[in-house]
Amino acid sequence: MKVLGIESTAHTLGVGIVSEDEILAHQKDMFEPEEGGIHPRKAAEHHYQHALELLNNAEQEADLDIEELDGIAFSQGPGIPQCLDIGAVMARSLSQKYDIPLIGVNHCLAHISIGTRTTDAEEPTTLYLSGGNSQILDLRNGRYRVVGETLDIALGNALDKLARKMGYPHPGGPEIERLAKETDEILELSYPIKGMDFSFSGLVTEVQRRLESDEDPVLANSFQEHAYSAVVEALERAMAQEGSDEALLTGGVAMNSRLREMVEAMCEQRDAEAYVPPPEYCMDNGVMIAHQGMLELKAGRETKIEDSKKKPNWRPDEVEVVW
Ligand code: AMP
Ligand code: MG
Repeated sequence: MKVLGIESTAHTLGVGIVSEDEILAHQKDMFEPEEGGIHPRKAAEHHYQHALELLNNAEQEADLDIEELDGIAFSQGPGIPQCLDIGAVMARSLSQKYDIPLIGVNHCLAHISIGTRTTDAEEPTTLYLSGGNSQILDLRNGRYRVVGETLDIALGNALDKLARKMGYPHPGGPEIERLAKETDEILELSYPIKGMDFSFSGLVTEVQRRLESDEDPVLANSFQEHAYSAVVEALERAMAQEGSDEALLTGGVAMNSRLREMVEAMCEQRDAEAYVPPPEYCMDNGVMIAHQGMLELKAGRETKIEDSKKKPNWRPDEVEVVW
């Protein structure tokens, strides 16, 4: 089976093609704002302008014609509505023109599935931290339950905001990481954890208030230590509750070396395994959507055109796991 996947939930337009045992194409282009965060209309315009080019490149890379495909998958949600529309229109058009089954997949679940495809993880407790989502997910009775999540903004978003306030460009995560490496000093800040949930808005504000009085590296390091400790503590609680001995760390924030170190240390203490997919599959990408689509098509699921509308607030626990 060969399936094409389209990712367009936020800043990245991605087109991937997979078969059962090969990744045949991996094309992407990221919208990079000149200033500020991700402007929905500008990001959507970016996706629209790159749509044809990425599809053509994917066809060439995989050395096949679209009509040979067995499925067209797209990220149906959650995400920025204007961006979701572009992927959905691309997928619907291809599906109708070539009469190929259509499958709308949940973006968060695709992050987990590509994690188990590209690592040795089998049924991990997942810590998914990205620009728009921050969740701990665990498979229980046929659904990925959200056992912990942010109560306000996503961790990636918090890092981007903080960096912007400090005057550094988007994306902020790598900038904060670079600054944090310059020092070992940690200021005492509030610790944003409530049970297995966490929050980051207050921490951003708290650090922002200290911009005049403290050095950027110290602030960056303090933010990282507090925010990352909170999510790793929540992950540990979730694993203890589930009796899980596998952790999967994914999403763009998983690129962070300090966070990986903390997850690994926690897992080592629990005699558990920590897994992180290769960087290109932690970030948003079309390959994970293609793979998720393939899993669902094989299990007999298909999305009718009338059910293919975008779902900007689609929660992963609404999806029955049939694959
Ligand atoms: P995603 O939405 O999954 O593509 O991830 C994008 C988010 O990952 C952005 O908010 C980035 O700031 C964040 N990010 C990327 N690299 C790093 C890093 N090295 N450390 C922390 N956050 C990062
Ligand atoms: Mg993502």
